[in-house]
Amino acid sequence: MADKTFIVKIKRQQRSDEAVRWEEYELRYRPHMNVIICLRDIAEKPFTRSGSESTPVSYEANCLEEICGACAMIVNGKPRQACTALVDDLEKPIRLEPLTKFPLIRDLQVDRSSMFENLKRTKCWIPIDGTYDLGPGPRMSPETQEVGYALSQCITCGNCLEICPKVNENSHFVGAAIVSQVRLFNMHPTGKMHAGPRLEALMGPGGIEDCDNAQNCVKVCPKGIPLTESLAAVNGQVLVHAVKSFFRGS
Ligand code: SF4
Repeated sequence: MADKTFIVKIKRQQRSDEAVRWEEYELRYRPHMNVIICLRDIAEKPFTRSGSESTPVSYEANCLEEICGACAMIVNGKPRQACTALVDDLEKPIRLEPLTKFPLIRDLQVDRSSMFENLKRTKCWIPIDGTYDLGPGPRMSPETQEVGYALSQCITCGNCLEICPKVNENSHFVGAAIVSQVRLFNMHPTGKMHAGPRLEALMGPGGIEDCDNAQNCVKVCPKGIPLTESLAAVNGQVLVHAVKSFFRGS
């Protein structure tokens, strides 16, 4: 019996200023394949459906269990992680494209550094002084822990930026993921001490006011993070901080 096959179409570009070309590959079906397996199959035999020799497709992947965020791409028109995109569940032919809100490196690989720069800009960490034993940390209520745990699952994949209409070439909006991380660090008993500078980083261009409440972000987050709740919560924090700063005269 002939092997069952399926088609994968891939948007390819060596550089962002090079013309786009779509390549089609016919792959041998095996049960439980995901998109990463498809890309590995192509790397092993980079021959297009018409028989012309091509090159392995460039993409990023690491953990293969939706933890590292690296393999985010557009699969059949939707931003998602390639590792959890199962061939059995996808409409055929499968179409793969790179995320569009980050600079293209090559093929399906993009440079997501802007997200990490924005995490730095908004001070999304908790400064701890020294390497000695600081003793037990402050207590957190189970309710705070529960919300914090949900927010801490962000894998910086960038899917929420891809789907956000306000993340575009005319705006510097940091995106829902960054705002949600500000909420996470501001709710921590130690992180709270630096809430002011984090909120200030979200005031003005690119900050929380640039959110138009499209609410697309929450629909594509692979970790189910309550992003719209984070946007609302941080918006309120920014407002209160601005009013307090005004009356303090700072
Ligand atoms: Fe990805 Fe969700 Fe984090 Fe956005 S919030 S970067 S979609 S994990």
